[in-house]
Amino acid sequence: MSYEELALLIDGRWTQGTSGKTETVVNPSTNEALGELPLASIADLDEALEASQKGFDVWRKTPAIQRQMIMEKTARLLEERMDVIAANLTREMGKPLKEARMELGAAIDVLRWYGEEGKRVYGRVVPSRITGMRQTVKKEPIGPVIAFVAWNFPAINVMRKVAGAIGAGCSITIKASEETPGTCIAIGRAFMDAGLPAGVLNIVFGDPATISSHLCASDIPRKLSFTGSVPIGKHLQKLAADKMMRCTMELGGHAPVLVFSDADIDAAVRNCVAGKYRNAGQVCVSPTRFLVQEAVYDKFATAFRDQASKLVVGDGLAEKTDMGPLIAERRIEVMENFMADALSNGSNLLTGGERLSNSGSFFAPTVLGDVTDDALIMNEEPFGPIAPISRFSTLDEAIERANRLPFGLAAYAFTKNAKTAAALSSEIQSGMLAINSLMVASAETPFGGIKDSGYGSEGSIEGMETFLTTRFVTEVY
Ligand code: NAD
Repeated sequence: MSYEELALLIDGRWTQGTSGKTETVVNPSTNEALGELPLASIADLDEALEASQKGFDVWRKTPAIQRQMIMEKTARLLEERMDVIAANLTREMGKPLKEARMELGAAIDVLRWYGEEGKRVYGRVVPSRITGMRQTVKKEPIGPVIAFVAWNFPAINVMRKVAGAIGAGCSITIKASEETPGTCIAIGRAFMDAGLPAGVLNIVFGDPATISSHLCASDIPRKLSFTGSVPIGKHLQKLAADKMMRCTMELGGHAPVLVFSDADIDAAVRNCVAGKYRNAGQVCVSPTRFLVQEAVYDKFATAFRDQASKLVVGDGLAEKTDMGPLIAERRIEVMENFMADALSNGSNLLTGGERLSNSGSFFAPTVLGDVTDDALIMNEEPFGPIAPISRFSTLDEAIERANRLPFGLAAYAFTKNAKTAAALSSEIQSGMLAINSLMVASAETPFGGIKDSGYGSEGSIEGMETFLTTRFVTEVY
């Protein structure tokens, strides 16, 4: 099966661009080259910007029902093409094929949801204080959007931006990750084959800093949406400020998992092991710091270690693989630094702790016990398959430690005590909290963080709202 044909999408045309420069896309399971990605020149970016203005002028006037019909057709095309797109997603990103298929299924779900929700963007009529005056609140698409997304979910990160913008009546120019461009391009092809007008969706690749500074300097975009790390999010927000561009920031996290002694420990371990090693831990809402109440610490840590050590690590295309490689070689060194720091801090290595093969960027599912809060891994986002476990004694201590970092994306807890759950629900500082599960994402619920993890939800009515402006009109006749 051949890899996606790599190209830029500008003004409805698939093009190799005019820079003459390319970047090699690599399969992280084998280190083999998959293809050469064309990089956009400044002239290509200018063409994309103009196309996005033209596309917006057409799309904002297109009735929501027609927009939804094109989105539905796109969803069906993606379903028909699922086998090929999912296999290529696995080849460029590394995650197991079953996870790639689930991700693509979730992306299609998001696409359909935004398509339908676009039909329910209502304004309202506010009774006036003056007889004969009509007061109308109007919700309108904000304008051309620019978006930048990380590589860890090549389908869903892209779709949350693209479907939100397109469902709301905006145009969008997106730069997906240069490490995982094929999935974004396949999504773009489905939109174009479904009849999306030229310029409504533009896809560019290149040097990220050059692209974002050039796009942000233009007067055309009215909104910037970013999924990635906290430092880059802060940098982009500064660039957007000069043009008073609205931002949505989906940034990093460091999710605490609080396991109380009254919890169903077997269920907690099952959930946590599955969640921790999903996508090799390269998930912004990955369960990250496991704080376990003393009475159940040994039971939890032992069962966690036993299950983690049984996971099959390998090429995501192999049927038996539970966990694939890290996105690239550079991430192995990051894991080794976390390990060296934790071990020198007195943590116990329960399983794993090292790279597994030299032919791909594989790192073993790792469990560390008795990790203290001053270890690097308890403070910085690991974005990898290392699970640090630590003890706590009281509810107050657990809450205080859960809240001590600047991040505030997801948090999890396992308890059967309703009073404990109520305390967590009001005291934990996170955009999303799941009690007795790790489920925080669906098309119809708001996904997003607080504090340094960003702002502006994706999905749900809140997600749609971020692509809309509010205008107020009075009429007296
Ligand atoms: P990163 O911020 O370095 O890169 C993310 C993306 O931004 C990449 O595609 C990169 O090409 C692009 N980028 C980098 N510099 C840029 C610039 N100056 N202008 C425009 N784009 C730029 O992050 P990473 O380490 O590659 O990705 C992982 C991070 O993303 C983690 O912190 C993770 O938590 C976060 N993330 C957050 C969410 C969420 O929804 N909150 C989802 C997925 C990933």
